[in-house]
Amino acid sequence: MKEGEYKSEEKKLNLVEELKKKFGKNFFIKVVVLAAFLSLSAQKGEAQNQSKTVIKNEIPVDAAIQKEFEDQKEFLVDWFSNRIIPDEDLQKKFEDAKPHILKNLETVFLKGDTLPFAIGMWHNDTISINAKLFNRQGDPFYGTSKNTLVHELSHDAFPMKKSAGGYHPDMPEWMLTIIQNAIEKSLPDDSDWQNKSTDMQESELYLRTPEEIYAHICAFRKEYNLRPNQIITEKDCHLEEWPKDKNVRELRMIISDPDILIDLLNKLP
Ligand SMILES: [Zn+2]
Repeated sequence: MKEGEYKSEEKKLNLVEELKKKFGKNFFIKVVVLAAFLSLSAQKGEAQNQSKTVIKNEIPVDAAIQKEFEDQKEFLVDWFSNRIIPDEDLQKKFEDAKPHILKNLETVFLKGDTLPFAIGMWHNDTISINAKLFNRQGDPFYGTSKNTLVHELSHDAFPMKKSAGGYHPDMPEWMLTIIQNAIEKSLPDDSDWQNKSTDMQESELYLRTPEEIYAHICAFRKEYNLRPNQIITEKDCHLEEWPKDKNVRELRMIISDPDILIDLLNKLP
């Protein structure tokens, strides 16, 4: 968890406190997202953020990254096009949502960026990729975030929508319910939670948002070459291995019960 930790720990915490004062509790989710952008991304190399200001210093992406983007987009489009959810009722609901999901993915742009704290980031129809980090052999993040683009593309399939009270993922209610139930069943007990630093708590709150869980599920499927019409069992989840991919590690940290994880993998689009 502490590997590659960013040095200005205190600065981050001060910033979070300042933002809490400034925006109040109604904007807590935005604060959490921003805090997570600063902290998680330093530790784990990826973040999603609603703020326009963090996108800067556009730099060209090379052909290899462009190809990776096209490949990972193809994986996700193929997944949605051929997805069969074992539960028939859920499959019917998914079929209703499918055209909208595929339409969202029609327009998505890739942008090279320096993103000092992150590997990748989604905002509106644009995915920014830290071309230097994503491409650099020997970087601590290199190879651990290879499913970053699937993760970010999944945000584009279910974009965040602004409405009264903050941002909400544009996911059908039944999907949100499935994910929120899994999150609730996976909450750590109180004593565990209180022993964690504020920074750690905020990182975990961020990972526990439905759109993050879903993005991690998509990356998990890519990492283990799961098929869209496959009924997932424990052996497909490689639970005995230490996960190389950080999306898989984070998902298993948040959804630690294998049965809950398998249920999510089988029920979600
Ligand atoms: Zn994300």
